[in-house]
Amino acid sequence: MPAAQPTVKTENKPLSAPQKALRKLGLDRDIDLALHLPLRYEDETRLVRLADTREGDMVQIEATVVSCEIAYKPRRQLLVEVDDGSDTCTLRFFSFYPSQQKALAVGNRLRLRGEVKGGFMGRTMMHPSFHPAGGELPQALTPVYPTSAGLPQVYLRKAVHSGLVHAARHGAFAETIPQESMPPSTLRYGKGRESNSGSVDAWGLAQSLHFLHHPTPDVSLAQLEDRTHPAWQRLKAEELLAQQLSQLQSKRARDLLRAPALKLRAGGLHEQLLGVLPFALTGAQRRVGEELAQDLMRQVPMHRLLQGDVGSGKTVVAALAAAIAMDGGWQCALMAPTEILAEQHFRKLIGWLEPLLSPLGKRVAWLTGSQKKKERTEMLALIASGEAALVVGTHAVIQEQVKFKNLALAIIDEQHRFGVAQRLALREKMQTSESCAGDAQQEPHMLMMSATPIPRTLAMSYYADLDVSTLDELPPGRTPIVTRLVSESRRDELIERIRHQIDQGRQVYWVCPLIEESEAIDLTNATETHALLTEALNPLGSAPVLVGLLHSRMPTADKKAEMAKFESGQMAVLVSTTVIEVGVDVPNASLMVIEHAERFGLSQLHQLRGRVGRGAAASACVLMYATGDSGRLSETARERLKAMVETTDGFEIARRDLEIRGPGEFLGARQSGAALLRFADLAEDVELLEWARDLAPKMLDQYPRQADQHVARWLGGKSDFLKA
Ligand code: ADP
Ligand code: MG
Repeated sequence: MPAAQPTVKTENKPLSAPQKALRKLGLDRDIDLALHLPLRYEDETRLVRLADTREGDMVQIEATVVSCEIAYKPRRQLLVEVDDGSDTCTLRFFSFYPSQQKALAVGNRLRLRGEVKGGFMGRTMMHPSFHPAGGELPQALTPVYPTSAGLPQVYLRKAVHSGLVHAARHGAFAETIPQESMPPSTLRYGKGRESNSGSVDAWGLAQSLHFLHHPTPDVSLAQLEDRTHPAWQRLKAEELLAQQLSQLQSKRARDLLRAPALKLRAGGLHEQLLGVLPFALTGAQRRVGEELAQDLMRQVPMHRLLQGDVGSGKTVVAALAAAIAMDGGWQCALMAPTEILAEQHFRKLIGWLEPLLSPLGKRVAWLTGSQKKKERTEMLALIASGEAALVVGTHAVIQEQVKFKNLALAIIDEQHRFGVAQRLALREKMQTSESCAGDAQQEPHMLMMSATPIPRTLAMSYYADLDVSTLDELPPGRTPIVTRLVSESRRDELIERIRHQIDQGRQVYWVCPLIEESEAIDLTNATETHALLTEALNPLGSAPVLVGLLHSRMPTADKKAEMAKFESGQMAVLVSTTVIEVGVDVPNASLMVIEHAERFGLSQLHQLRGRVGRGAAASACVLMYATGDSGRLSETARERLKAMVETTDGFEIARRDLEIRGPGEFLGARQSGAALLRFADLAEDVELLEWARDLAPKMLDQYPRQADQHVARWLGGKSDFLKA
């Protein structure tokens, strides 16, 4: 395996535009170029007779120009008539240079490529490509590569070809997959599984690559295009295997680290906490709690994702895990993405835990960016001394000045809202803990929580290095949320409905539209809606109805004050931009209105809807949509809204979201262009994915050298993201 290429082209000479474009596409090494596969192909290997062509065919012909003139109806265009002996065809050019006009002069014989259109005036081709006729026909289909501005196909074709040749010469395609383990879909069709030598006759990597870059014309284009051809299967298998191997490697590396082995003690904090909870745990909460306790007892760091739909009760499960750690005298940290959410956790946890902690001389500490200096200094001291058994906060928890005495468990709520760097920083807090200073082998247990369930195939691929626990049961007594689509023109009826809810003592959220271009417009919208609702809900002589406003530009203190009024029930309606998206919990709220719902993503809508239906009252979510100038919703907006009406099941929502958006958007913090699958498709290639998952551990055990080689080939230096 050659190391990174010698960088000949750099230093003094500035890069040309196409070279820069290559870089930008990540096509640095020969192997990267070789793995840059065609999007589609053009068949330039044969010529057809015009008489044999049909409407819509993409064809190549050779014909002689019989007339060439500029016409002005309906606009200036060059009309060229050609005849190939079997029939004629009119070529139409709306833009052309004098030199092209010259090449198209009467009597010239041309090789033409384009799409044939019919019509009552006879066959035509719009802007066909053309060269002088004659010359050899290529033997292979012509590849068309994914490219970008400033990188012409011809240049890219040459670069890829040379990358392919060089990489092959350096042995970059050496087989790494054990012969006996080839996936069945890469086997040669039409032959038995065994060749004469007794080995399996599968498509090799080198052969597959050469073929995909330059397929022979006898192959089925359909098989190439839908990527079911065994050569494609081989590439996908390689890619999925690399992903599995690298995740398994980081998982095994983590298993070499140490974390405090925590014990579940009879009569301890865990048991006490269970005793003071105002409800019984659901079956799912008990099962997941058990899974966490098992992990915490081990001497290796837990690395677990707890997924559960909005409202499934993740917080209490996390608190129970924290109780186990605190019971052993260790510290825990809980980090949430927004201050409102962090504060809500803080209050809930204080309510449950402080009465249990104070007899032990311990407390819950609170850390956020907006904190007063004095309070902050106090909190930092509590954390450093270990008096704070639990630290709840926002990103402030991972700031430099924060020194833990003995952090054993780090919990991240809504983990997809944090970046890789932030999660790494939290893990490092363990190493700077006084109790294990300097021991790089020591790490805290990590619990990541997410309300966006991960579809099975994603969990198997991008999250293969994580253990996953799932809360698949909602606490009892929740009434299902009814979701309705309402056109914006029916706003007045909606206000009536709100009034009705308020009369029954219920509360209402009103989420304002998301406008990407400008936060300022967002704000105007929210302010206007707030004024409108305040007026409409407070007719003369009636009891006053308090309508609040919450938006991201407000000072934190104001946000908290508004939130507190809503939580206490004093405020009936809360108008908000999407700051309430995650986590807030006000069980008395029974109606959620989302304005311009067509602009929100599916999982965001689901999260927002999850703010209601938390109490016993029947709850509803109204998705107000506007069709805008076009008079209709976009295809994907329609699909999203349809999904929302059809199901409230977070897993089903996630599955559809994956279908609509593809995996990229899903991965949040894991997302990294370099690390996304390029060839394999999680919906199509489940069998290959399962194959790769089964093979990876075996390869690491039996063929470690090949495994390393395989990962290097596919991921180069790009697998760091997996460590967080
Ligand atoms: P999420 O999983 O969305 O973070 P929360 O942890 O905020 O959900 O829990 C949602 C609500 O359900 C909270 O008010 C919580 O106290 C309550 N809850 C949690 N578990 C139970 C249970 N087993 N029975 C009844 N209510 C519960
Ligand atoms: Mg939550």
